Amino acid sequence: MIKAVLRKLLSPVLRYRGDAPDLYLSFDDGPHPVVTPQVLDALDQAGVKATFFMIGQEMERHPALVTEVRARGHAIALHGFTHRHCADMGWREQLDDLRRMRAVAARFGVRLRSYRPAYGELSVLRIGWCLLNRVKIVMWSFETRDSFVQQAAELEARVTPQALTDGDILLFHDDTPVTAQALPRLLDNARAAGLRFGVLETV
Ligand SMILES: [Zn+2]
Repeated sequence: MIKAVLRKLLSPVLRYRGDAPDLYLSFDDGPHPVVTPQVLDALDQAGVKATFFMIGQEMERHPALVTEVRARGHAIALHGFTHRHCADMGWREQLDDLRRMRAVAARFGVRLRSYRPAYGELSVLRIGWCLLNRVKIVMWSFETRDSFVQQAAELEARVTPQALTDGDILLFHDDTPVTAQALPRLLDNARAAGLRFGVLETV
């Protein structure tokens, strides 16, 4: 109940779902030198656009991939500068992480509109900073659990058209090989069911 009220109050800055009837694919924790290109190929093959929540540090390590993701028509959002648990960071470290994230985005010419905190962990400081900087916190409504499954078949069985609801934001990871393996089949199934995918930049 309290959670529902809080979500309602924070809805201008905090999103858990996108606008129906579209679905939204999101890929966290990249860019990754091996998996991100595979994910991009699968998306291209299906003619689908997605949103990549990148870690600032990884963007600096793989700058060409940032350019590649953008060149192929996807939206880039940020996932922090590092990927640490909120509880392990003091407020200064949290602020420093947000500032460095913003600086990386600027260096790559990415307009920082959407931010997804590492592990989806919120704090008063993070919410306040996003309010001040007009950045939307974008979470997810459908957890694919791709970081936990061992086989592509498990992921395919979990992420079916029947399991999805209009407006769902799907959480994937483009540093997880099983995700790239399962993606072609998942997208085929989605297309056969007539599902449409949008990018979160426009939400
Ligand atoms: Zn993450």
